[in-house]
Amino acid sequence: MAKLAIITGATSGIGKATAEAFAKAGINLILCGRRAERLAALQASLSTQVQVHTLTFDVRDQAAVSAALNSLPEALKQIDILVNNAGNAHGMGPIQSGDVADWDAMIDGNIKGLLYVSQVVIPWMIARQQGHIVNLSSIAGKQTYPNGNVYCASKAAVEALSEGMRLDLNPHNIKVTNIAPGAVETEFSLVRFKGDAQKSDAVYQGYQPLVAEDIADIIAFTVTRPAHVVLADILILPTAQASPAVVKRQQ
Ligand code: NDP
Repeated sequence: MAKLAIITGATSGIGKATAEAFAKAGINLILCGRRAERLAALQASLSTQVQVHTLTFDVRDQAAVSAALNSLPEALKQIDILVNNAGNAHGMGPIQSGDVADWDAMIDGNIKGLLYVSQVVIPWMIARQQGHIVNLSSIAGKQTYPNGNVYCASKAAVEALSEGMRLDLNPHNIKVTNIAPGAVETEFSLVRFKGDAQKSDAVYQGYQPLVAEDIADIIAFTVTRPAHVVLADILILPTAQASPAVVKRQQ
C-alpha cells in the first residue's frame, strides 16, 4: 500500500523539493504552508502522480495547527511519515542588538511549531505502532556561528528534540531522523535578510552550494529504507563547506 507523508513548509525550498521527490517515489502527500496559492500550484502539478491534500496554517499558531490537522478525514490521519521542515532564520547579528520579533519568530516557528505539529501527529503514529519523523535541523544546530545566536539555539533545540523523540518513541516502533544541512540555496537567506537580494545572493557566491533537491534526495532515500533500518542523524554539506563559517570560495 502507498505510504502517506505530511510535509510542513512545502511551499518552497527543501519542503517543496521533498514533496516532489516523495511523489516520484509514489508516496501520497499532505502539504502544509502559509502560502495557499503555492500549495495549490504544487498540488496541481503532483496530483498526476499521487494523491495530494493541502493544509494552510501558521505553525506558530497552536490552535490553528490543531484545528487544521484534526480536520483531516480518518484516512488521512494514517500518516506514515512526518517531515518537520517548516522554519526559517530571521535576521543575523550580534546577540546584544537582537530584535525580539525575530527571536520570537525563530523560537515560535522552529521549535514550538515543530512541537505543535508533532503533538497532533505522534498519537496517530502510536496508535498504529509505526511511523517515521524527519526533523529539519541544521549544521547551525551542531555548531554555533558568530551572529547566528538565536537561530543556532533554535536548531540546537531541534537536535535535542530529535534525540528526545527517538528515546520516547522507541517503545512504539517510530523512527526518528535528524537532517542537518549546511548551505542550501533556497529562499532561506532572502527570508533571513528580509528580502535583501544582494545580501542573500552573497551567501551563495564563489562556491557551489547545495540545492533543495540534494536534501530532498537524501530524505527520500531515508524514508524508503527497510523497516528495521533508520538513518538517525545526517549532516549534509556542500563540498566547499567545512563548518558554518569555513567555506572555500573562488576569489
Ligand atoms: P525556505 O525559506 O525556502 O522555505 C521555508 C518553508 O518553511 C516555506 O515553505 C515556508 O512556507 C515554511 N514556513 C516558514 N515559517 C512558517 C510558519 N511560521 N508557518 C508555516 N510554514 C512556515 O527555506 P528552506 O527550504 O531552506 O528551509 C527549510 C528548513 O531547512 C528550515 O527549517 C531551515 O531552517 C532548514 N535549513 C535550511 C538551510 C539552508 O541553508 N537553506 C540549512 C539548514 C537547515 P510559507 O512561507 O508558505 O509558510
